[in-house]
Amino acid sequence: MKISDILGEVGRERGLLVREDGALSGMISDFPVLIRSIPHGNLSAVSITVRTGPGDFAALKKAVKGVKGMKPSMLKSPGADSLQYIVPYTSFFMGRTRGTVIAAVDSLMPLTGGHFKPPPKACEVCGRPDVSDVLEKGGRPALICPGCAETIRAKQDAARMAYESTNPDYLKGIILGLVGAAAGAVVWAAVIILFKSTYLLLSAGIGVMVAFFVKKAMGRVDRAGYVIAAVLVLASIFAGEVLSYFWLIGRATGRPDLSMAYHAYMNILINNPRNLIYTVLFALTGVWIGVASLSKMESNTKREEIE
Ligand SMILES: [Zn+2]
Repeated sequence: MKISDILGEVGRERGLLVREDGALSGMISDFPVLIRSIPHGNLSAVSITVRTGPGDFAALKKAVKGVKGMKPSMLKSPGADSLQYIVPYTSFFMGRTRGTVIAAVDSLMPLTGGHFKPPPKACEVCGRPDVSDVLEKGGRPALICPGCAETIRAKQDAARMAYESTNPDYLKGIILGLVGAAAGAVVWAAVIILFKSTYLLLSAGIGVMVAFFVKKAMGRVDRAGYVIAAVLVLASIFAGEVLSYFWLIGRATGRPDLSMAYHAYMNILINNPRNLIYTVLFALTGVWIGVASLSKMESNTKREEIE
C-alpha cells in the first residue's frame, strides 16, 4: 500500500505531488513537506517531515500539546533544520489513519509557521534561487532547481532499474533462511522446555529473523521470496514444537527418539487440535509479521538505492 493510495487526493488539494515511489511532497505555506511511509517499531507509520529554517522546537511541541488528537511525543526533531510528526499506521482502519494524517498536517503547518522561519528559497544542491521541486534528500524534503531535479530523477531511474534487474538468489535465500529457521526452532523449543509456554512475541521475532535472513541472502525479493520466508517461519515454529517433544520424551524415557517425538506431536495435532490452537495462531502471526517485515526491508533497500 502506497501513501498516495490513501492520501493522494487530499495531498493534491494541499498542493503536494505524488512522487514515483508513492510518497507525497511539495510546499505548504513556504515549507517543503514530505509525507511518506516509514518503519515504526514492528509496524509502519506515516511520517510528515517538514523542512524548516531556524525556530523554537520546544515552543512548537508545547503548542502541539494543545491540539486535540495530536501527541507531542510523536513530534520529533531529526535534525536542526527539519521536524517530523509520526502517525502510527493502523492498516485495519485505513480511513482513520487518513483522517489522523490530514488533521495532523492541517494543524501542524500553521503552528510550524508560528514557531519556525521557512527555509531559504534556494536549490539545496547548487544554490540557484529558481527552485521548482520538493524532492527527498537525506530523508527530508529539499527544495531543488529544475536542472538538479532532472539529474536526481535520472539517477533514481537508473538505481531503480538496477535494482529491478537484479536476479533473486533463491538457493542462497533458502539456505540462509533455513539457518534462521533452525535457530528459531531451537529457541522455540528451549522456551517451551524452560517456561512450559509459547509466546506471541517470540513467534513474531522468529518471523522477523527468518525474513531478515531470506532478504539478506536473496538480494532482491520477489513473490517466491515471500513464499520461502512464510514456509520457513511455519517450519521453524513447528520444528521447534517437535524438538521440544524430542527433548521431553528423551528425558522421560532416557531414549531420545525423533520419530517418536514427531508421531506424538502429530497425534496431538490431528486428534486434539484444540490443544495447539495458540501455537497455530502464534505461528500464523509469526508468518504475518515476517512477511510484513520482509516487505518493509524490501522497500527500505529500494529507497536506499534511490537516494
Ligand atoms: Zn540546483
